[in-house]
Amino acid sequence: MELRLLPRRDALVPLLMLLLLLVVVVHVHATPRLEMVVTSSAASGGGAGTTSRARAAPAPAAACASWRLGVETNNIRGWYGIPAECRGYVSGYMLGEQFRQDCAVVAREAAAYAEGLALAGDGREAWVLDVDDTALSNLPYYADTGFGAQPYNATYFDEYVANATAPALREVLELYGKLLALGIRVVFITGRHDYQREPTVENLRSAGYHTWEKLVLKPSSLGSSVVPYKSGERQKLVDAGYRIVGNMGDQWSDLVGAPEGERTFKVPDPMYYVA
Ligand SMILES: [Mg+2]
Repeated sequence: MELRLLPRRDALVPLLMLLLLLVVVVHVHATPRLEMVVTSSAASGGGAGTTSRARAAPAPAAACASWRLGVETNNIRGWYGIPAECRGYVSGYMLGEQFRQDCAVVAREAAAYAEGLALAGDGREAWVLDVDDTALSNLPYYADTGFGAQPYNATYFDEYVANATAPALREVLELYGKLLALGIRVVFITGRHDYQREPTVENLRSAGYHTWEKLVLKPSSLGSSVVPYKSGERQKLVDAGYRIVGNMGDQWSDLVGAPEGERTFKVPDPMYYVA
């Protein structure tokens, strides 16, 4: 009786093909499809990641969608400039239906939350709103500067602010109307500087924000870090007797740092990162 421990020669070919297939599958799953470059401002010296890769081939939409998810969830931090490969993706997102849908979901959930609150109606219930790319849209500026692919142009952005022509982010404007109708006081806390108060007031009003409890602008003497400034201003509100029922911004630096507010809402913004 012959005991066959080894496979017969005619069985080796399909076995080898199966092994080859397994090797290919493992390799595909283990190899990143795209090296998504996340360049910190400190490391890049200010936008190197956007210039050295300016001629990069477009990345697959799925890779850029994953990058955007990482940004929106605050898993990707400290980045300066969108990956050059994703410029087409980000512009398509910002100008297309997906951005509108994403904003609508944020505003709808915020409105449902606000309408479900047990409100005292004592004039001390406050909702903090950021200004840039939250109450107002800076899409006209970013459409002119590569949707975050080009380095930030402070001179041009200051001109944009001074012109006071930014449109409202319409989903947030609709939410604003609902908050006022509920008796919630709106407090704008913005990273814009105090010398920009006049065009900011003009722009907010022309965009449809006709009233507010406070408009807090950053003193020019303060450094660039947003979290201590914004959380400090929220603390002043609490100390003054306000109850911050909601806080909404397009940057995580608008939302983190105690007191954050009873609930926070992140407006989508894959174009830039503010620490
Ligand atoms: Mg903002």
